[in-house]
Amino acid sequence: MSIHRTHAIVLRTRKVRESSKIVVFFTNKCGKISAIAKGGFKPKSKFGSSLELFTRSSIIFYKKENRDLHTLSHSETLEAYQGIKDDVFKLAYASVAGEMVERLLPAEEPNEALFGLLASVLSEISLAERSKLEVILSSYELKTLYLVGYGPELAECVRCGKKVEEDAWFGLLSGGVLCADCRNKDLNALSISKEALDLLRDCRRESIKKIRKTYSSDRVSREAADILNAFFRAQISEGAKVRSLDFLERIRDTSFG
Ligand SMILES: [Zn+2]
Repeated sequence: MSIHRTHAIVLRTRKVRESSKIVVFFTNKCGKISAIAKGGFKPKSKFGSSLELFTRSSIIFYKKENRDLHTLSHSETLEAYQGIKDDVFKLAYASVAGEMVERLLPAEEPNEALFGLLASVLSEISLAERSKLEVILSSYELKTLYLVGYGPELAECVRCGKKVEEDAWFGLLSGGVLCADCRNKDLNALSISKEALDLLRDCRRESIKKIRKTYSSDRVSREAADILNAFFRAQISEGAKVRSLDFLERIRDTSFG
């Protein structure tokens, strides 16, 4: 058994036995881990509110070798991201960010850059106006795909290498843009406007903060978001359900009323 101290973000929790909680954390140093918090569901638990969804905490846990479930001994809130907890729409966007880490990263594989990215998107979602949530999430999704090795090619046709500068196609299975000559080589190609392609290129290049300041929800941001979400689904496995995305797509059109 070894003891670990690390920063962690709560991705998911569930109740077990009388008053304990199993928490899935994304940690800075140890990657994605599951730990049992004994007594974590008691009203006066020693963990306080540090085990609420998407809270960033400083934790200490005991790791049992060859086991998937470790034991949490200490957890202290560093950042609650209260704006997310107070707004169901923000919670829906944050849930997609969390599910991407869960689905794309193997257990216990550290990725400090992705940890920093998740912390920064939670902070942006917590503070942003609703009209900014879509572009914030798109920027995070694209950066995450590159960090785990699934980033799409956005500059040159993935089949013939020609530079793509106008309206084009996006091959969900080919892994990036396709020119007019090659579009038929990928049966799952979606058309993409030059504006949406430029937005995706900016989302890759610029910080999430810069994207939030530059763009708001509109026809182009929706087109870019729909393509990215389709691409994310295709990377996980064809036709796989992504519960957080399904939920977000059901509620997002009511979020600006
Ligand atoms: Zn081509």
